[in-house]
Amino acid sequence: MSTIRNKKIAIIGGGPGGLTLARLLQMNGANVKVYERDAHKDARAKGATLDLHEESGLAALDAADLMEAFWANYRPDADALRIADKHANLIHDDKDAPREETMRPEIDRGPLQNILLDSLLPGTVVWDSQFAVLTPNDNGWNVGFKNGEVVYADLVIAADGANSKLRPYLTPIKPFYAGVTAIEGAVYNSETASPKMHELLNGGKIFAFGDEKTLIVSSKGDGSLVFYPGFKCDEHWVRTCGIDFTDKTQVLNWFKTEYAGWDEIWLELFENASGPFVARPQYCMPLDQTWEAKPNLTMLGDAAHLMPPYAGEGVNMAMLDALELSQCLLNEDYPDSLSAIAAYEKQMRARASETAEMTMYSTGALHSDGAIEFLMGVIGG
Ligand SMILES: Cc1cc2nc3c(=O)[nH]c(=O)nc-3n(C[C@H](O)[C@H](O)[C@H](O)COP(=O)(O)OP(=O)(O)OC[C@H]3O[C@@H](n4cnc5c(N)ncnc54)[C@H](O)[C@@H]3O)c2cc1C
Repeated sequence: MSTIRNKKIAIIGGGPGGLTLARLLQMNGANVKVYERDAHKDARAKGATLDLHEESGLAALDAADLMEAFWANYRPDADALRIADKHANLIHDDKDAPREETMRPEIDRGPLQNILLDSLLPGTVVWDSQFAVLTPNDNGWNVGFKNGEVVYADLVIAADGANSKLRPYLTPIKPFYAGVTAIEGAVYNSETASPKMHELLNGGKIFAFGDEKTLIVSSKGDGSLVFYPGFKCDEHWVRTCGIDFTDKTQVLNWFKTEYAGWDEIWLELFENASGPFVARPQYCMPLDQTWEAKPNLTMLGDAAHLMPPYAGEGVNMAMLDALELSQCLLNEDYPDSLSAIAAYEKQMRARASETAEMTMYSTGALHSDGAIEFLMGVIGG
């Protein structure tokens, strides 16, 4: 089995990228463990519904032999998009537009995680394992965790997301602020908790635009909805604004001021939000980033190429990374793991750079006065 024969592989992070890689390697006989910070699989509420793209997320699931499980769990109508202005006037409704058979089917994060977890051998994921430190040991690494455990691995893969603690072992390059901050909230049981929004949402997604701001709302299969207003502000606004994001009233008051002139219907989201809000300044890795490959450490997904969510590519890129990395590691033609990893990283960086450029363009366009025209153009309206 090529350059990873008889090697112990440690994947740090059990998000969609890490779990997809674990499945793709394990089904080909590799010795792989996933170390995940969360205490168990339901430790955190999962965010918005994800659309998987044919050439990336779906291609990875297909290679992982998981398409049947995907079709059993996807949400057929969740990709129905409504575009609204700030007064909640619908500018576009997928329901009224003739739609071709979608190649961007939607799945909630929870079911996607379950599909991937169920595909792994029991004990593959080691929960409650927050990575702390890497120490060289022979040709591999001692991987130390916050809980005091230390394990040896010949090859370590950083799949620990946006604030990767492993990335600095490969490169000091840091992401830059994308100019937009989003505040994520959720409403459980939206049909009764926020009936007007529930009706407007109609089981799909709403993208609302006005005054160079966005408000994205999406329904989830468990009856909840998630939403995130996005707006331009300086990088440190979350720290300096003085808002306590665990206090619903403070966030509601902020929204009333920041989104002054928007229709009252949007207030229903903030008035009925369940649980605390999460403020997320949006970052992007430099498009020209590069680093020297190592034979025993690499990275994928947000750890490698964080980008804002305004083109819906993050999960798809993470899963395609997993596919391409598994193909390189399993390829008999590479003489050693260094050449396999170098080949993966070269193509991953080039692809991610193109996608990040498009994403940054989209982020700017969606937070401009021409947002509605831009999105109508993207969807071919
Ligand atoms: C509000 C929002 C909306 C989004 N919408 C979309 C969308 O519609 N479509 C899309 O494609 N993408 C979207 N994204 C982006 C997408 O969520 C990410 O790109 C994707 O989840 C990246 O996958 P990953 O596996 O690389 O990292 P993650 O999903 O972040 O997974 C990383 C995992 O590592 C674990 N971890 C972190 N630190 C440690 C540690 N020290 N030790 C052990 N484990 C650790 C975490 O608990 C987590 O399970 C959105 C992001 C946000 C914030």
